[in-house]
Amino acid sequence: MLKPSETAYVPFVSVENMMRLVLYVGVEKMLAELAAEIERDFARWPLFDKTPRVASHSDIGVIELMPTSDGETYGFKYVNGHPSNTRQGLQTVTAFGLLADVATGYPLMLSEMTILTALRTAATSAMAAKWLAPQGATTMAMIGNGAQAEFQALGFKAICGIAEVRLYDIDPAATAKCARNLAGRGLKVVACRSAEEAIMGAQIVTTCTADKQYATILTDNMVGSGIHINAVGGDCPGKTELHRDILLRAGIFVEYPPQTRIEGEIQQLSPDHPVTELWQVIAGQAQGRTDARQITLFDSVGFAIEDFSALRYVHSRLKESGLFQRLDMIADPDDPRDLFGMILRAEAAKAA
Ligand code: NAD
Repeated sequence: MLKPSETAYVPFVSVENMMRLVLYVGVEKMLAELAAEIERDFARWPLFDKTPRVASHSDIGVIELMPTSDGETYGFKYVNGHPSNTRQGLQTVTAFGLLADVATGYPLMLSEMTILTALRTAATSAMAAKWLAPQGATTMAMIGNGAQAEFQALGFKAICGIAEVRLYDIDPAATAKCARNLAGRGLKVVACRSAEEAIMGAQIVTTCTADKQYATILTDNMVGSGIHINAVGGDCPGKTELHRDILLRAGIFVEYPPQTRIEGEIQQLSPDHPVTELWQVIAGQAQGRTDARQITLFDSVGFAIEDFSALRYVHSRLKESGLFQRLDMIADPDDPRDLFGMILRAEAAKAA
């Protein structure tokens, strides 16, 4: 046999097929379904194998591996973060990921994850806000209108019932792009000329900027009582978005503390500053928002379990949608010990 056996083909979800899947399911429905999948996995958090992601830093960016397993299925994501990429016409964040069967170690699926990361990040943000934001929130400020922005806006519409988004970016072209893409999707979209203008009347503020420095997208005096902050862009050592004083006034909710203490807004605080793990709120083991005046902060950095949930969601849609290609990626001879024989048979076939 020249070709590996049928079981050795690995389904591969290309960028094109991921886009088709989003259109097949519908973007808001897919965001809601991803949020439900992530929430289910957060509810069984203690089951997972957890580790802070493995990061390789350079002066201008980071390349990371994000592994986890629930004992039956293993997943990892490869992801980069290079804020200066956009100046060269490249994405700040690109990713791909893999699911594997723990019982055999064989890959189950390889997938693009640049689009999937934007979807899972928005789904996680909105899922967290569902638990933490003030009741009846209808307006969100969206500061940073780059690649993630529309996904965030639509996630908050689909999952939290947000009706108005107020956009601001230091680059007006990014705001114009975001407003254009969100037109006709059932959201009131307001383009603003400053972060101060964007947060006017907003019960939820999402910061999703990209700059490899300690930035101050929100200062303390901009943040009134009762709001929920969804801080997405501060996700690396030396890369934050909020003034430290805001953190001192907020109830802080995180994904996985050992990773967030290195990468999140809370890298600005002492290592023993109290934080609540979001999964505990979902599992009923910790309180979310305590009162209407509390400032809640989801210090999002992105954790491997969210990628695992997203990959499993895509995997569960493969059969029904048929949106994948088969990759000849595992060398799997009929006699497992005759790996070299595969090459010999290929040589003989070529000569024949
Ligand atoms: P992007 O480069 O496409 O967009 C970032 C936008 O922020 C740009 O339009 C830029 O002009 C704007 N910006 C930079 N500084 C600003 C400032 N001071 N005020 C207002 N706007 C400003 O990047 P992206 O793919 O949209 O990602 C945004 C951020 O989110 C990145 O930092 C990325 O690393 C992070 N991210 C986090 C997660 C997570 O799970 N927490 C997931 C994906 C991306």
